[in-house]
Amino acid sequence: MAEPVELPSRLAILPFRNQVLLPGAIIRIRCTSPSSVKLVEQELWQKEEKGLIGVLPVRDTEATGVGSMIAPGMGSDSSGRGLKGVADVVGDSQKQDAKNPQEVIHWHNRGVAARALHLSRGVEKPSGRVTYIVVLEGLCRFNVQELSARGTYYVARVNRLDLTKAELEQAEQDPDLILLSRQFKATAMELIAVLEQKQKTVGRTKALLETVPVHRLADIFVASFEISFEEQLSMLDSVDLKVRLSKATELVDRHLQSIRVAEKITQKVEGQLSKSQKEFLLRQQMRAIKEELGDNDDDEDDVAALERKMQSAGMPPNIWKHAQRELRRLRKMQPQQPGYSSSRGYLELLADLPWQKVSEEPELDLKAAQESLDQDHYGLVKVKQRIIEYLAVRKLKPDARGPVLCFVGPPGVGKTSLASSIAKALNRKFVRISLGGVKDEADIRGHRRTYVGSMPGRLIDGLKRVAVSNPVMLLDEIDKTGSDVRGDPASALLEVLDPEQNKTFNDHYLNVPFDLSKVIFVATANRVQPIPPPLLDRMEVIELPGYTPEEKLKIAMKHLIPRVLEQHGLSSEFLQIPEGMVKLIIQRYTREAGVRNLERNLAALARAAAVKLAEQKDCVVQLSKDVHPMTTSLLDTRLADGSDIEMEVIPMSINRQDISNAFASPLTLVVDEAMLEKVLGPPRFDDRETADRVASPGVSVGLVWTSFGGEVQFVEATTMVGKGDLHLTGQLGDVIKESAQIALTWVRARTADLKLSAAGETNLLENRDIHIHFPAGAVPKDGPSAGVTLVTSLVSLFSQKKVRADTAMTGEMTLRGLVLPVGGIKDKVLAAHRYGIRRVILPERNLKDLAEVPSAILAGMEILLVKRIEDVLEQAFEGGCPWKPQSKL
Ligand code: ADP
Repeated sequence: MAEPVELPSRLAILPFRNQVLLPGAIIRIRCTSPSSVKLVEQELWQKEEKGLIGVLPVRDTEATGVGSMIAPGMGSDSSGRGLKGVADVVGDSQKQDAKNPQEVIHWHNRGVAARALHLSRGVEKPSGRVTYIVVLEGLCRFNVQELSARGTYYVARVNRLDLTKAELEQAEQDPDLILLSRQFKATAMELIAVLEQKQKTVGRTKALLETVPVHRLADIFVASFEISFEEQLSMLDSVDLKVRLSKATELVDRHLQSIRVAEKITQKVEGQLSKSQKEFLLRQQMRAIKEELGDNDDDEDDVAALERKMQSAGMPPNIWKHAQRELRRLRKMQPQQPGYSSSRGYLELLADLPWQKVSEEPELDLKAAQESLDQDHYGLVKVKQRIIEYLAVRKLKPDARGPVLCFVGPPGVGKTSLASSIAKALNRKFVRISLGGVKDEADIRGHRRTYVGSMPGRLIDGLKRVAVSNPVMLLDEIDKTGSDVRGDPASALLEVLDPEQNKTFNDHYLNVPFDLSKVIFVATANRVQPIPPPLLDRMEVIELPGYTPEEKLKIAMKHLIPRVLEQHGLSSEFLQIPEGMVKLIIQRYTREAGVRNLERNLAALARAAAVKLAEQKDCVVQLSKDVHPMTTSLLDTRLADGSDIEMEVIPMSINRQDISNAFASPLTLVVDEAMLEKVLGPPRFDDRETADRVASPGVSVGLVWTSFGGEVQFVEATTMVGKGDLHLTGQLGDVIKESAQIALTWVRARTADLKLSAAGETNLLENRDIHIHFPAGAVPKDGPSAGVTLVTSLVSLFSQKKVRADTAMTGEMTLRGLVLPVGGIKDKVLAAHRYGIRRVILPERNLKDLAEVPSAILAGMEILLVKRIEDVLEQAFEGGCPWKPQSKL
């Protein structure tokens, strides 16, 4: 390290812009401006003995002054030109100065004497300009007493600020300084230790710490940090040793802390990085282990398997591209990532969908199809014929865009099973899509994948389940779809059923078109009315009205009983249900258009029988536990027919009953009335119900049509003191309410003719209210066909005459008393028959509809056709209507 130097009283000054050279620090500068080149040339280059120069900090004009600055013009010749030239030596302020030649230069009043450790001269070509590169070492602080120009550069009169050797030795005795220097050294050591961990080359710095005096060390350390110009200046200004040391300690400590913080941050980042790297490594290892064990079911393999599945799914090229894109995305994801499972689910669906898979359709054999239909379904001749026609057209023109068949009828009449028979006849798979209660369009079209928990619509889901693209798809209960704010499922269904559009059916979830044109659609509905007309337009309605009791009996004997027995693991050897009992079930336990409840009741009998059989079997097994095989020659006995017989010895303690059980074949259980009551409970319906209910005046028997087929609907009317109001109850719709008004008006208009009021009384409603109720109050009712029934009920009420219990009626009535035709005649007649009602009053214009009613039913019934309401009344009361109206309109 340099010894304390002799400082001359005058020093050539090199300005150092916005930087400070501290004693002990070494800098390398390039001098290009004429003034600095001149200075170097004259003061350093040309001198034999390397001289000293002063390096004086210069502050930028825009920076505010801190500390002591030499005022401009302090030098004798402080011309702007000269100043400019010098300032250029160590800064790039040339342009700035050029802009403002009169600019004031802020010199700091303290600087550091420096000597050149190395000098090199260069000549630029082609201009011939000379430049120097100088390596300077800071030696000691000085104070500027006077600044003056010497040619193009400045010279200052200076005095030394640093202590001499003797002064130093004395100062070092100061206990405060000792303490401060210890503190500084400790901090410096700490810094060195930290740096040592990072780089191995700090050995030299450590050596410095031992050899260099502490006041110099302070400068050297601080000079090696990146600190602000202000801090550098204040370090330069710290002439007092104690101040210098405490400042240096503070700066070293700050540097140390900042290194530590930086280290902590990098450690944190590295920690995170290494965690994922570690996971990756472990995963790699796990895969290797699994591969070694031949156990390849990890995620990666899963994805590979998925890709294979996708490849074999036969997707069209554009969809395959789309799928691959999605697969690439999946590959980049970690299984724990949020979108992973949704993306995977989507790809699984793409892979599972039957893009090309179809069930092979053999040459259609119409005869076999007819046989199969006959085998599964009793009766339904017309329906079966229509199905055969449909199949015949398909046979001739497989891609014919025939209408969609829609079976309409009450529950349990075989709509679903007919559809599945079509599938069977065509050798296609069958899939049922239940549309009952579907109000959201997304149920048909799917939810977009942006929604959480989104999934495909029911159609795409059905196709995935059935795994072929040409199944028979049953759109069950198409009349039960509704529309609300979530869209209109019917419009989506329209697209599905339209052969023009369903080639590219777009499910929102799937987001790529799927071809539905190979699917054969069949629909079912309970009623036609609720089906939106455009949808109905695409379908051919085939009505399946209810069955007659005879038909039900046949269906039960031929189809239901064998099926039920088989389903319960029974045979007719064990359980027999005689025809008489089936008839009783139909009459007493079911009152329905279809055969669903009948089937349910038969199943209940079969279950009871199965329990009995199981118990019996247990008994035999128990017995055989105690028996011992005979060891005598009897075992070898062979029967005449050659079959083996196994003999058992029965211990004498077992009673005779058990013995007979043990050998008896299972008993055949024949269902009788007692068993019916035991299993099905007391009869639910009987023929006397109507008689009981019309036992008082004011009650009439109507026939209505509901989604469960035809029904008998009683109408009850009563009167009480009031103000002439009409009360209606029983969840009635607007049309039926209006019918009640019409009926009342008609009756009031005919009060006199019908002799309904006491003599002289003209207003039927005087001081009284009328209340009409339609029982089964929980079931909504509507429609005009209760007109005649309402009139009959009111006439009965006012005349206090009972309506015939064996007569039911239906028909719309005009205000003038004409009876208009109504719908659902077959169902209504069948309903009356079910209730044991043998007389039915129908509008005359419904005569044609009677052709649909089985003749067996008609044979046992009296059908009374009427034109006017008076005719109805004539038939509805015992002995005819005694109050012959005088005039007919
Ligand atoms: P729907 O779909 O009309 O409500 P299903 O097709 O489910 O009725 O029929 C109910 C049950 O009745 C099924 O087991 C079905 O086989 C049977 N069934 C209905 N009609 C007949 C029939 N004509 N012949 C044989 N079985 C029938």
